[in-house]
Amino acid sequence: MKPDFNKMNGLIPAIVQDVKTKQVLMLAYVNEEAYDMMLKTHETYFYSRSRQELWHKGETSGHFQHIEGMSLDCDQDTLLIYVTQTGAACHTGHYSCFFDDIIPYDNSSLADALYGTIMDRIEHPVEKSYTNYLLNEGVDKICKKVGEEATETVIAAKNDSKEDLIGEIGDLYYHVMVLMANRGVKVEDVEKLLKERHKISGNKKVFHTRGEY
Ligand code: AMP
Ligand code: ZN
Ligand code: ZN
Ligand code: ZN
Repeated sequence: MKPDFNKMNGLIPAIVQDVKTKQVLMLAYVNEEAYDMMLKTHETYFYSRSRQELWHKGETSGHFQHIEGMSLDCDQDTLLIYVTQTGAACHTGHYSCFFDDIIPYDNSSLADALYGTIMDRIEHPVEKSYTNYLLNEGVDKICKKVGEEATETVIAAKNDSKEDLIGEIGDLYYHVMVLMANRGVKVEDVEKLLKERHKISGNKKVFHTRGEY
């Protein structure tokens, strides 16, 4: 199918998304000329409504967008463009244009929240807190618990109860987090490493682990 430029007075909105993270980067308008240029060059082109001219994104900033994929919506009046972004999508220097949180939301992961609670216990100990007990006992005790929970996870995996397995994985997850806090390893340190190992090849995601295949 082709975009229906006639329906939209010659201009349709295009949502630009980071192909890997799916972060929404910007929204701009596309006319038929810009659309044709994108198919030809696989770089983003828009129609600048303020300058009233064809706009090759990155032409002055050098922040080009390489098109990795493009979809048309159900009624042919909106484009979704998946790009690899050079530099930043926004002329303010922000990676995404959508940095102004009018209604802020919690974007942190469970790992961040749990790690945050553990760090909070270090700064403000709580009476009868199991986390404070572990942290006071020190690294040997924490490592012993990680070992125990790992063993229990393995045993649960070989039994039939998924519920038990989830419980053991929860225990293991928590104790690994306590060990991380004790050793000064941050959630972002681990995430950064995993992301570096995470390579995209074509449409297939290939995850590189250190383990044996
Ligand atoms: P560029 O295409 O990145 O070289 O930018 C050219 C001009 O387009 C800039 O000076 C801005 O006025 C405008 N511009 C660039 N990126 C954006 C954006 N994401 N949203 C709105 N305007 C933009
Ligand atoms: Zn629809
Ligand atoms: Zn639509
Ligand atoms: Zn912007």
